[in-house]
Amino acid sequence: MRNFLIYLSESKSAESFFRGFPLTKKVIKRFIAGDTLKQGIRAARHLREAGFDAILDLLGESGDEQKTKMALLEITSMIQACEEEKDLWVGLKPTQLGLSVSKDLFKKNLIKVYKEGTSKQVKITVDMEDSKTIDDTLSVFKSVKKDLNLGICLQAYLKRTKNDLKSLLSDGLRARICKGAYNEPSEFAFQDRSDINSSYMDLAKLFLKKGLKPGGYPEFATHDPFIVDEILKIVKKENITKDKFEFQMLYGVNTQLQRKIIESGWNLRIYIPFGKSWYPYFMRRLAERPANLMFFIRAIFGR
Ligand SMILES: Cc1cc2nc3c(=O)[nH]c(=O)nc-3n(C[C@H](O)[C@H](O)[C@H](O)COP(=O)(O)OP(=O)(O)OC[C@H]3O[C@@H](n4cnc5c(N)ncnc54)[C@H](O)[C@@H]3O)c2cc1C
Repeated sequence: MRNFLIYLSESKSAESFFRGFPLTKKVIKRFIAGDTLKQGIRAARHLREAGFDAILDLLGESGDEQKTKMALLEITSMIQACEEEKDLWVGLKPTQLGLSVSKDLFKKNLIKVYKEGTSKQVKITVDMEDSKTIDDTLSVFKSVKKDLNLGICLQAYLKRTKNDLKSLLSDGLRARICKGAYNEPSEFAFQDRSDINSSYMDLAKLFLKKGLKPGGYPEFATHDPFIVDEILKIVKKENITKDKFEFQMLYGVNTQLQRKIIESGWNLRIYIPFGKSWYPYFMRRLAERPANLMFFIRAIFGR
């Protein structure tokens, strides 16, 4: 089922089919703040009033030069709006900034965005996409990054990630560790949940042991209570204070655990997606959890 839904997330005809359902909009509201930056900001304010931190993410992936120009403009507007909000972060995808056109275009645009973010004191995080994009994403990230203002996402399901993390940690790193959301072959990626979980914990242990020097900041992105508990055991045992790391979760996902983490006094940042290109993101969320799919089906049939 997971593979099928991820396959659907890449299909244009499935996209027009799903977009045709009048009730789809009602369901996606649970996972997506809205079509506009204004709605993204509104969701961020609401969450921040409740004690969460937030990162805004413009939906939309792979694009040609024209789409890349539009995305660059939108991301620049996001940075300006986030400056006014204070300590609201911005997330972006490499293909949004031109990686599917060329590595050079992505680099040029990432430098612009990073400079804009730094001048406005807005932190930028580069999301990680499918495995075909990783070498280029990492090499551009390494060449642009100078400080904590630019961070990156690393995926625990990939067999290469431990080595990537080791090489990045030597310079001080702000990185989000997630399990990984794409369909990757067993040649590159762990397939069993238990292998992915133990890879996640290996990365977390390494980061907490070697990465907390100045310029280092781990962000543990997961809705998995098992992983959250294991990380908290290490943090408590090693007396790591709450300003040294954070948890991250997606807007609308496992809100019960979100509240529990905040109520226990730990920092949690919510990733708030917004924009019209919600379809692939939404399908990946359905793929992750059958209960999300049932929620969608029940809403469509009005139960
Ligand atoms: C902030 C953030 C940023 C991300 N950025 C990227 C990125 O750049 N690139 C990328 O490839 N992926 C990204 N992801 C997605 C990530 O890779 C996973 O696909 C996604 O987080 C699901 O993995 P999980 O760790 O939550 O655990 P899963 O293995 O999906 O779930 C584990 C357990 O968590 C609990 N759980 C999960 N969802 C729910 C729910 N809705 N309600 C109740 N319990 C639930 C259940 O107990 C479940 O068994 C990001 C995720 C987050 C949170």
